[in-house]
Amino acid sequence: MFKNAIQIGKLWGIPLRLHYSFLIILPFLAWAFGNNIRILSEMAGIPLTSLGANPYFLGFVMAIALFASVALHELSHSLVARKKGVHIHAINLMLFGGVAQMDEIPEDPKDEAMIAFAGPLLSFVLGGLLVGGGSLLGGVIVPDLQLLLLYLGWMNLFLAVFNLIPAFPTDGGRVLRAFLAGRMPFLQATKIAANIGKGFAFAFGILGLLTANFILVFIAFFIYIGASQEYQTIFIKNTLEGFRVADLMTEDVKVVEEDILVSELVNRMFVERHSGYPVVRNGEVTGCVTMGDVRRVEPELQSQTRVRDIMSRNIIKVNPEEDIYLALRKISQDDVGRLMVMKDDQLVGIITRSDIMKGFRLREMQSRG
Ligand SMILES: [Zn+2]
Repeated sequence: MFKNAIQIGKLWGIPLRLHYSFLIILPFLAWAFGNNIRILSEMAGIPLTSLGANPYFLGFVMAIALFASVALHELSHSLVARKKGVHIHAINLMLFGGVAQMDEIPEDPKDEAMIAFAGPLLSFVLGGLLVGGGSLLGGVIVPDLQLLLLYLGWMNLFLAVFNLIPAFPTDGGRVLRAFLAGRMPFLQATKIAANIGKGFAFAFGILGLLTANFILVFIAFFIYIGASQEYQTIFIKNTLEGFRVADLMTEDVKVVEEDILVSELVNRMFVERHSGYPVVRNGEVTGCVTMGDVRRVEPELQSQTRVRDIMSRNIIKVNPEEDIYLALRKISQDDVGRLMVMKDDQLVGIITRSDIMKGFRLREMQSRG
């Protein structure tokens, strides 16, 4: 999901990345704001004729400033999270808002509540300052700037309020889960919080359909999917608890040499029924090769091409002592089929999604007795 993003800079050491969907929505937002300048200026009590700038230019500045506000909101989550010892990979800005990519949810529900609350709090304060500034400075600054301050202020206040609705995946949903988790097991707390989120989703969906407000219907879907995913994630994590990578990995790793021909590799894939292999040179792992790499070679060229020409040299590895959930997350995040299990640079095994699913089924059988 976060592969198609470009890094535009760092804030307090946290990479800030733009997803390509953001680049699609930006001109659209600028255009929509530009078209609505008349309504916005009426709401702000600023006569349209007093505005000097081109409405679409104002719309463009508003769109950029809106995303900057979202980035600040996420940064606020991130800085509090870091204080609580949670590692932040990056802040991703995309089609709808932003996401701070965190390593995991903190153990202590109070910490989670504080991290979740930090975003809306910042948006609320920022919104208040902007609206206050925009109102007080009327007549002092140019009307265009006053309109920008006021509108941006309202958007930030909206961001704060919307995010506090207790419906996963919003911040309010996290605060609610943290509150419940102080009183019951984490999984149960997540289930209740997710169900409340789904309830909101249904209400928004019905309201949206009745009033033909399709943005609301869209938000309903977003909340419903987010709430389901959150519960699923925690359910899987809970079920797999206690497994290490070494418990579920395949130890008997079959490898291929860099110099063999692709046609030989294809034969081995058929015979051994493997769709991917670690690649070695002089006994050292140099990368991996999968069915996907093979498919990019024309069949008639397979007997002239070597594995080293098509292999991927990006080794995604995991330590055998690591928690199995970390392996699952790496597989999903990097969108790869398998991880190499390496101990002191030695390949000791391989772990795939289906290895992890085996562990999952094992636990399910145990729990049924
Ligand atoms: Zn937030």
